Amino acid sequence: MRPSLLAALAAAASKREADGLYRRLRTVDAGDGRHATVDGRRYLVFGSNDYLGLAHHPDVVAALGRAVQAGSGAAHLVNGHTREHSALEEALAAWTGREKSLLFSTGMMANAGLMQVLLGSVAGSISIQDRLNHASLIDGARAAGAELRRYPHGDADGAARQLALRPGHAALVSTDGVFSMDGDIAPLATLAGICRREGALLHVDDAHGLGVIGQQGAGSVVAANLGMADVPVLMGTLGKALGTSGAFVAGSSSLVEGLVQFARSYIYTTAMPPALAAASRVAVGLAQAADDRRARLASLVARFRAGAGQLGLALLPSSTPIQPLILGEAGIACAVAAALAAEGILATAIRPPTVPVGKARLRLTFSALHEPSDIDRLLEALDRAVPETVRDRAVQ
Ligand SMILES: *Cc1c(COP(=O)(O)O)cnc(C)c1O
Repeated sequence: MRPSLLAALAAAASKREADGLYRRLRTVDAGDGRHATVDGRRYLVFGSNDYLGLAHHPDVVAALGRAVQAGSGAAHLVNGHTREHSALEEALAAWTGREKSLLFSTGMMANAGLMQVLLGSVAGSISIQDRLNHASLIDGARAAGAELRRYPHGDADGAARQLALRPGHAALVSTDGVFSMDGDIAPLATLAGICRREGALLHVDDAHGLGVIGQQGAGSVVAANLGMADVPVLMGTLGKALGTSGAFVAGSSSLVEGLVQFARSYIYTTAMPPALAAASRVAVGLAQAADDRRARLASLVARFRAGAGQLGLALLPSSTPIQPLILGEAGIACAVAAALAAEGILATAIRPPTVPVGKARLRLTFSALHEPSDIDRLLEALDRAVPETVRDRAVQ
């Protein structure tokens, strides 16, 4: 008998629920960047990627409000590529120090497109990746049909070993700049040296570094003093610190032109609304000039880390606004998140398979819009919620 696809899906979902790993949607009513109303109740939020608070910046919102058309009406190569898209691409290229940039509708699509094109251009290409890379990078390599080899998190020597094992193969080394779940920064300078020596191409996904670190917030590549020759393929998203939505790939003219020719996730999809491009360009200008917001963010992070240290909450070595609190079992992470929620604080429990088994955590993120008193309120709630048993053995 032919197996039923829907019955198999229902069985997989039941198993996930039985394992305590079921994911549930929450419907959020508009917030102000610090607070959000969820199911009729107001919460202080520590789970947004809007690190600079630009999603609620009046100038960004006003740019959206000036829209004269709701959508672009077509793909870029048809007639959806407006003056606003082109101006945003120029602003992103200038900010990141690249010849050109190319807009994609999402970060998932940007990574899928560039990996399909680059890994597909030479038979037998290999994709070498940090074990904690974002899902879009893993999926991009798989969809491109490349052999995927992963190295231990942050281990540039591990990347070098993988390359040395396959000397005759074209290779793309891909890494998050700032890791989305751990908040730490990839060893980019070392990776760049290895890639140069091995003739491999380095690809950095800077979704969480852009706007947050580096001179003028230009991201982790600039923070590591590297340029386009060191990191020829830079991908960034607009939906995190820039506060809007969308993504881009920046690099040489020939890289960008090649993507326009061949990237299926660029070619066969509707261009983002022009007003979104306009709002994103306003956000880029604000992010470049946001040293005050970055300084405020850094002081909030320092306040949190000092307070957490006093409570015996062992944190990961992160200096970014992503501050994971590792709690171990998924059940404990959920219980702590529920206890915080009962006190009006929203923090997301992140469980397997998003993170490895035994590494369930609260992924706490901070915004320049938070007040120091918000951090204190969070710390007091954590002190009540986190069991003593997980306070010191939390990080191995
Ligand atoms: C969020 C994220 C993406 C995906 O970007 P979207 O625009 O949300 O699709 C890709 N890579 C990393 C590291 C991310 O954090």
